[in-house]
Parts: sequence; C-alpha cells; structure tokens
Amino acid sequence: MIKCVNCNSDKVVKAGLHKSEKYGIRQVYLCKECGRKFIEHAKSPRYSQEFKEHVVRCVVCEELGIRQASRTSI
Ligand SMILES: [Zn+2]
Repeated sequence: MIKCVNCNSDKVVKAGLHKSEKYGIRQVYLCKECGRKFIEHAKSPRYSQEFKEHVVRCVVCEELGIRQASRTSI
C-alpha cells in the first residue's frame, strides 16, 4: 500500500512517471488528501551509497576486531 510521504494518507493516485538518468523510470504518485506529489521508494542514492559503504566498513572493522581480539585474548 502506497502512502503519502507528507500526511501518510493512502488516498494516493498514480500521476505519471518520473524519468531520470540516475534513478531510471519510477512511478509518481499524487496525494488527494494534501495534493503533494511524491515518487515511490524515493531514496537519496548519495546517502544510501555512503550508508552502504559505512555499514560495510563497520562490518569489516568489527570482524577484524573480533578476529584480532580472539587471537590476542587466547
Ligand atoms: Zn498527503
């Protein structure tokens, strides 16, 4: 169920397609409740990429940390 990002209403209708090089073609929705248009699964790729790298780094660091800790502690 698609809900409005602004008012959380489910009275949303399809309002065309949004096309961009980065995101490709995505569905645009219009909220009948507040009149706001939004794109499904709107993400900031800059942020999510950064976040992914951050998570990977943390996992790698933690894994190394655990390995090193297990080696040194025994
Ligand atoms: Zn709304």
